[in-house]
This record gives sequence, C-alpha cells and structure tokens, in this order.
Amino acid sequence: MKYSVNEERPDVWFVDLKVGGEEEYTGAYIVASGKAVALVEVGPASTAENLLDALSEIGFSPESVKYLLLTDVHLDHGGASGNLIGHFPNAYVVAHKRGIQHLIDPEKMLWKAANEVLGFVAKIYGKPEPVPKERIIPVEEGMSLALGKLNFEIIPTPGHASHHVCIFLYPANIVFTGDAAGIYIPSREVVLPATPPPFKLAPALKSIETLISLKPNLVAYTHFNIADHAKEKLKKHCDQLVIWYECAKEIIARGIEREEEMFDLISRRDSDLKKFLRISGKLGGLRRGVKTSLRGFFQIAAEEQNKV
Ligand SMILES: [Zn+2]
Repeated sequence: MKYSVNEERPDVWFVDLKVGGEEEYTGAYIVASGKAVALVEVGPASTAENLLDALSEIGFSPESVKYLLLTDVHLDHGGASGNLIGHFPNAYVVAHKRGIQHLIDPEKMLWKAANEVLGFVAKIYGKPEPVPKERIIPVEEGMSLALGKLNFEIIPTPGHASHHVCIFLYPANIVFTGDAAGIYIPSREVVLPATPPPFKLAPALKSIETLISLKPNLVAYTHFNIADHAKEKLKKHCDQLVIWYECAKEIIARGIEREEEMFDLISRRDSDLKKFLRISGKLGGLRRGVKTSLRGFFQIAAEEQNKV
C-alpha cells in the first residue's frame, strides 16, 4: 500500500510507511535544514521504496541525506538501513554501539530473533540487508550531531532494548522516542507499552525520567506521529509500565490463561488499554503488538519469581 507524507512541523515531515497496509502503525521522520536531510528511523526493509518515494515527493535528492538516525536496530525502526544506504552516497547510519553488529550482519542474530519473537510479522517487515561497517557511526555515551542550523542530541535510553537511544532535535525541542515512550495512537489519544521480551523495567523507567528531565516540547513517536503534552504523556507512560508489571504478576499468581481475561484485568487499571480494546478490531497489527508487549512483562515477572 502507498505511503503518505506530511510536514507536521516546519522542516519535519512524518512518513506513514503503511507497513503491512496498516494505518497508524509505523513511520519515519524526514528532518531538513536547508538542503541537508536527516532521517530519524527508516522503517522496515519491506517499505524502503516508500521512504525513497516520500523523500523525492517533498523535493529532496538522495545526495542530500546525511544521517540515518536510529533509535534501535529492530526491523521496524532500522530494518531498511541496508537497503537504503546504497541510494544515499553521503549518508551515515547512526546507532548505539551495542546495536551495530546487527546492522553489519543482520542474518546472524537479528533476523533469527525477530522471527522467534514476532513470528510472521517478521516476514511483513522483510529481511534486512547488511550495512557496510564504514557507513556506520557508533554512539556510546551520548552524542551531538549538527545538521546545518539544527542539532541532534542522542541520549542512551535502555529498557525496550539495551541499545535503545532517544534523539532530541534542537532548537525545536522535539524528542524522537522510538519505543522508549510506548506506542501512541493519535486518532484515539492512547499510549500502550512497547515492551516485547527482553524488556527491562527498571532501566526503562529511569530512561523515561531522563527524558522528562530534559523537558521536551513534543514527543515524536515512531508508532505513531508527533504529539504535544510531552511531560504528561511520558509521566503517564511510567505509571502504565508499573501497572502492567503489577498485573503480569497477578495474572501469573492467579493462573489466568485466557487472553481476554488478562486484558480485562489490565484494562480495569489502565484506561488507555480499555479504550484501545474497544477499537482494536481495526488495528490488527497493534493488537498483536500489545500481546507481545505483555509477554515482556511475563518474562520479567517469571525471572523475579525464579530468583526468590
Ligand atoms: Zn518499534
């Protein structure tokens, strides 16, 4: 299905990649300063062409692209990097150093792990092509990158993945949160966790606290689009993660096995999930995502039980 591209803020475009034909699911950002361009997230391999077409539709050449900034290297965020980099002679892929091995050799672990965790969804995302090592800039303890008059600050935010980063764009003060601040569904104004195994709760909460302390104006979600009330959304998401964790423990303790009963229990404490479940028939991909997120909490709860 064809993409759509829209200038959401001055010089910041959001591309709905229409991954797997789904609405409000996954996107990528095009940020420009004059003729220089950075992509924040590139989406999966299966929609690489859509991103190329969107770039050309808004009038930028492949040569204008300087950076492909990735919040993580998972298939839905960085999967298209290897497919795209050959088109962009002046560009570098920027990712946390813990993730770059997966970009260089996606076949070895990333593709296998994606198939295990995501099942047939991995096929919808498509198999990523490798990125040549010399085209990657590894991020360690944070990093600042200039694009004309703009500045990107890259902040390590482990939790969703140990190699996850968030990216602040200045002077607009927009934070691109990848999966660190959950999944936002604009038409319903709900946020849901993006916490597939091996999600880690304590670092995730700390990462969101870090984002709040940096006082962003706007949150730019990969799933999905830009939202205001950044601080409130981030705070509420912290509470939501704790609620889901408590619920996961209770589900295990009570031996609940039916999915509906599980969601019912959580939605009594999480009004966003409750709202989502009312509409989720139309959002198949997201519903699958929510189930995978719950599995992340089960894994943590089970690990803690084993420790006792
Ligand atoms: Zn994601």
